[in-house]
Amino acid sequence: MAFLFRSWRSFQRLYNLRSSLRSSTRRNLSGVSSKTEDVSGYHLRDVPSFMRAVVFWEPKKPLSIEEFHLPRPKAGEVLIKTKACGVCHSDLHVMNGDLPFASPCVVGHEITGEVVDHGAHTDVAVVKRFPVGSRVVGAFIMPCGNCGFCVKGQEDLCEAFFAYNRAKGTLYDGETRLFLRSNGKPVYMYSMGGLAEYCVVPANALATLPNSLPYTESAILGCAVFTAYGAMKHAADVRAGDAIAVIGIGGIGSSCLQIARAFGASEIIAVDVQDDKLENAKKLGATHTINAMKEDVVDKIKEITGGMGVDIAVEALGKPKTFLQTTQSVKDGGKAVMIGLAPSGAVGEVDITRLVRRQIKIIGSYGARARQDLPKLVKLAETGIFSLEDAISRKCKFDEAAAAYDDLNNGKIVGRAVVEIM
Ligand SMILES: [Zn+2]
Ligand SMILES: [Zn+2]
Repeated sequence: MAFLFRSWRSFQRLYNLRSSLRSSTRRNLSGVSSKTEDVSGYHLRDVPSFMRAVVFWEPKKPLSIEEFHLPRPKAGEVLIKTKACGVCHSDLHVMNGDLPFASPCVVGHEITGEVVDHGAHTDVAVVKRFPVGSRVVGAFIMPCGNCGFCVKGQEDLCEAFFAYNRAKGTLYDGETRLFLRSNGKPVYMYSMGGLAEYCVVPANALATLPNSLPYTESAILGCAVFTAYGAMKHAADVRAGDAIAVIGIGGIGSSCLQIARAFGASEIIAVDVQDDKLENAKKLGATHTINAMKEDVVDKIKEITGGMGVDIAVEALGKPKTFLQTTQSVKDGGKAVMIGLAPSGAVGEVDITRLVRRQIKIIGSYGARARQDLPKLVKLAETGIFSLEDAISRKCKFDEAAAAYDDLNNGKIVGRAVVEIM
């Protein structure tokens, strides 16, 4: 029968696929109806039935590591053995109570890992694209693939993601996949709840990670690099030769510098209040640096650009003061791109007449489009155009996640910290 297949390899691929589908079906047929039994009855060969995850309980309370039942994926979802998860400011906004989110929840939203299982009734094409054992990277905006925005390719605006995940802490059937081992109680998911030994991710949020890229460093592709790319590509539409300023050189701001360099920006101006971050910025492509504690940001940007201002200024802090500086730093017709989240209700000011007469564009940008953009980011990293190595400033162990967030909160992390999970 092998002669029917173009090669032995394609025969093997199909065989593996059929085996995987058979096992999914078997599990489904033996499944039981009640929710508690459903999760505790989920067993996979060579996979423990329980896992640990980092839980946020309520604002200002310390994170804790808790035991959970192995999370069970549903149709179109993939169970991943998490290898690494980045430490991002967005999680901090939730932990500090700046942005309301369902709690208790498992935080962490930029991950890499190994595919362990697929939900029953998952499309054959998905199983084929991400076979069990394959290496993947996951984006924090997990597109449903079916809403009005997703079908237009605007996955960064996915209705289901905002309506279910961001508003309720669940996946798109309105339910979490995380249940405590001790009492079976549900715990919500910030994106996929990535600071866990296993996580469930909608397949639309995944891209294949080649063997040449390390698990740990590549985790940042799913938020820091993803967000920077979305800002530069979709919001700013950067062209070669553009002058760009980035205000706030944290994990995402520093990724913006590298993406700006990749897009051929001429002047790349890094603005921050910490000299160590500015020094690091030079490695990532900054042609100029400004310490906002020592110099006037807008004056200095004008000086560097011959009095004109930059084509594109990016605000990565979410502060009213830097919001205003960003709009004032762009040249006539320029674009002020806002990517920094602020506490809910925060309001920014803008010089109205200048905005009108000089045609300043203020553009909000959140993440990027997983299916079209994430594979491109993998390529940028694979070819070394984007250096993951330079973007990572700290690696820590699973038990050290809470301490890493404390350090991030206190400005002690230059660049990005990544938690290595297994
Ligand atoms: Zn993030
Ligand atoms: Zn959608």
